[in-house]
Amino acid sequence: EQPNTKPPASRNDALFERAKKLIPGGVNSPVRAFKAVGGTPRFVQRAQGAYFWDADGKRYIDYIGSWGPMILGHGHPAVLEAVQKALLEGFSYGAPTEREVELAEEIVRLMPSIEMVRLVSSGTEAGMSAIRLARGATGRSKILKFEGCYHGHADALLVKAGSGLATFGNPTSAGVPPEVVQHTLVLEYNNVTQLEEAFALHGAEVACLIIEPIAGNMNFVRASVPFMKRCRELCTQYGALLVFDEVMTGFRVALGGAQSVYAKSIPGFKPDMTVLGKVIGGGMPLAAFGGTRAVMEQLAPMGSVYQAGTLSGNPVATACGLATLREVQKPGFYEALGERTRSLVSGLTAAGAKSGVPFCGDSEGGMFGFFLLGQLPQNYATVMTTDSPAFNRFFHAMLDSGVYYAPALYEAGFVSAAHTAEDIASTVAAAHDFFSSPASK
Ligand code: PMP
Repeated sequence: EQPNTKPPASRNDALFERAKKLIPGGVNSPVRAFKAVGGTPRFVQRAQGAYFWDADGKRYIDYIGSWGPMILGHGHPAVLEAVQKALLEGFSYGAPTEREVELAEEIVRLMPSIEMVRLVSSGTEAGMSAIRLARGATGRSKILKFEGCYHGHADALLVKAGSGLATFGNPTSAGVPPEVVQHTLVLEYNNVTQLEEAFALHGAEVACLIIEPIAGNMNFVRASVPFMKRCRELCTQYGALLVFDEVMTGFRVALGGAQSVYAKSIPGFKPDMTVLGKVIGGGMPLAAFGGTRAVMEQLAPMGSVYQAGTLSGNPVATACGLATLREVQKPGFYEALGERTRSLVSGLTAAGAKSGVPFCGDSEGGMFGFFLLGQLPQNYATVMTTDSPAFNRFFHAMLDSGVYYAPALYEAGFVSAAHTAEDIASTVAAAHDFFSSPASK
């Protein structure tokens, strides 16, 4: 008889098989399926602080944090208490509450460009509604977006560049008719010349330009200051609204969001509208869009732009978001988070340099990106020149060591206030082990 050499059964594998029978790809959002990197997704059993445990009981240092919301780490006591208290008072009413007013007041106080705000349940909904409002408020149809920026999966935004600036986009998803994206023009990020040409050609018909100011959906790419300055100037000149998608960066890169980072370099800088999500819900389904009073007053029931939601301003979600926003306002919060995040990026970069592996990274506040490239890319096409098999080897080596990075090379990473110096040190040590092993080559 042969001894039984089969590896012990993995509950992650078993769950994935079960999931795939009933849920397309076994997941409820595509990137979770590990399609790009291969292997079995980790089914999360529970999370606490900077860690989560998978279905096999293995612990990981979590650098995704639910793709951004968990800025305090998992299970922060003040947030837990607020949510538990709210739960006992009712899950949803479909009628206004005091907490919605409090959350609106908090957002408006912390982001000076926002004079009025509406709460919704997801970033997709917020982005889609902001664009409808921009179109309604300007009476124009066309929108400008940038390649590599993601603003949720509304039909008009699932689009790639057409051929040349005179032609509008092509759908990137089946099920989106070409007519639906015919008003969306897709431009290269950080390309000032193209931006100027696009406005010269179409400026008078553009309702809004929507941008991730620090793009987290092509890993981590900052809009350069001159590029952002031109975005602002051209929108003003042509009467288009500048819409900042801060779903990821809002309350993540700084208390005032990415707009406060640009305002340091561009005096008086403000977007006309802002889209928020992730951190403002602290892990509950909550998002928002806001802007100037004149624009926001165009929304129903005041104005003629329709938008609504059964669960909008949900009492449990607003409790979670408010408790989260109160914690991040404590003195020194972003300084400490920024410092910890920088120490991760500089540690990884030094580990790469020691082994002669091309590696670079960048961060702002608690958001970071790293690249297996010699220098920081400025646009999506350059991000995608990354050696993806090398990224996949790195990803799996780190996963085996108990470090959970995003399972795709075009996603940003997140550090929370719960990550300790020891967590960073053990992450860097794991990266160093990989870079100095033959597997990295
Ligand atoms: N905008 C940005 C910048 C995002 O990163 C995301 C989601 N990652 C969205 C919009 C969409 O948000 P949601 O997944 O909550 O619909």
